[in-house]
Amino acid sequence: MDFLKNIQLVGKMIFGAGSFDRLGDILAEKRSDSFMVFLVDDFFKGRELANRVPARKQDQVLFVNVDIEPKTAIVDDLRDRMLQVSGQAPDGVIGIGGGSVMDYAKAVSVMLTNPGPSSRYQGLNLAKNASVYHVGIPTLSGTGAEVSTTAVLTGPEKKLGIKGDFTPFHQILLDPELIYDVPRNQWFYTGMDSYIHNIESLTGHYANTLGNSLARQSLELCRDVFANGNPTDIASNEKLMVASLMGGLSLSFSEVGACHAFSYGLSFVLGTRHGVANCIAFNQLEEYYPEGVAEFKAMVSRLGIDIPAGVTAGLSESQMEKMIDTTLALEHMWRHALGQGWKELISRGKLREIYQRM
Ligand code: NAD
Ligand code: ZN
Repeated sequence: MDFLKNIQLVGKMIFGAGSFDRLGDILAEKRSDSFMVFLVDDFFKGRELANRVPARKQDQVLFVNVDIEPKTAIVDDLRDRMLQVSGQAPDGVIGIGGGSVMDYAKAVSVMLTNPGPSSRYQGLNLAKNASVYHVGIPTLSGTGAEVSTTAVLTGPEKKLGIKGDFTPFHQILLDPELIYDVPRNQWFYTGMDSYIHNIESLTGHYANTLGNSLARQSLELCRDVFANGNPTDIASNEKLMVASLMGGLSLSFSEVGACHAFSYGLSFVLGTRHGVANCIAFNQLEEYYPEGVAEFKAMVSRLGIDIPAGVTAGLSESQMEKMIDTTLALEHMWRHALGQGWKELISRGKLREIYQRM
């Protein structure tokens, strides 16, 4: 019965253009005489959005660099810096950015109330104490991180989320104006995460009516966006925000599949970022997702997106072995994609052959 998931959903949600201007009022209800911390993607340093952050004088605004995907050591460092301010946890942590910053906000909120290094909590429901109030505000759409129960982290040993009831945001704020004019490749890579989530959710063995209904609606929105839209089209971005949310929710009740298993291997060994790693992997997975991959290629072509090639060409033997180990360790993804007998259907040789095409 482990497929019957009992999920902690996000708390409050506000959606619509201009909703960012409501943030100050939303936070006011949660303030004591302590401080709040805004974790802001450092892409916004010196840009207009940074000036619109409703920070009071006792608050901290920390710009976070996400050139590399979230690391457990950085979560620990952020937590320690916040606790140093007054010896107490802040009233709230607000993450403003893409999936990376949102995952930092989720992870730090859990780690402010749970002792020790965050690598200890990579897994399911390992945190014992409720997290600090935290708010997610996406500036890229597609990962579903705004609504998921996990904060994906790379630690010394593995790329695995702090997953559980204390991870989801207490509040999310979805303002499509924040994703206006994202560079085209990034817009596509992150948006495609949602498309791929839906394809994987729908086609696997844990598929169910709830997950499927969300995934189908999300997929329809993704198709519309990538067949007709562009990064400066407000209507497209509104749809993409909803697609991301529904795709993320769909996964909560279903599971990702083969593409994410390959993508995690690329990210762990090469540091390839999630969105583009998914695209590199999906491009080679016709065998598992024939219709999805054909449609993906048509979208890439219409929008003139760069999908990197030859990324595994220079791998050493030990790196390739590590990549295969990482992929194979994601048993839940394979079980969803191929069923209980998945071990008979793939081999190290087959994974290697597919990786070599990327
Ligand atoms: P990201 O957050 O890693 O950001 C990618 C790049 O875009 C960064 O350089 C960032 O500075 C920049 N950026 C952010 N907002 C921008 C904007 N409005 N305009 C221009 N540039 C902007 O990208 P992502 O694809 O949103 O997130 C990927 C991360 O999310 C990975 O770390 C992945 O592991 C994680 N993830 C988490 C979940 C989850 O459920 N928690 C799901 C999928 C992925
Ligand atoms: Zn994903």
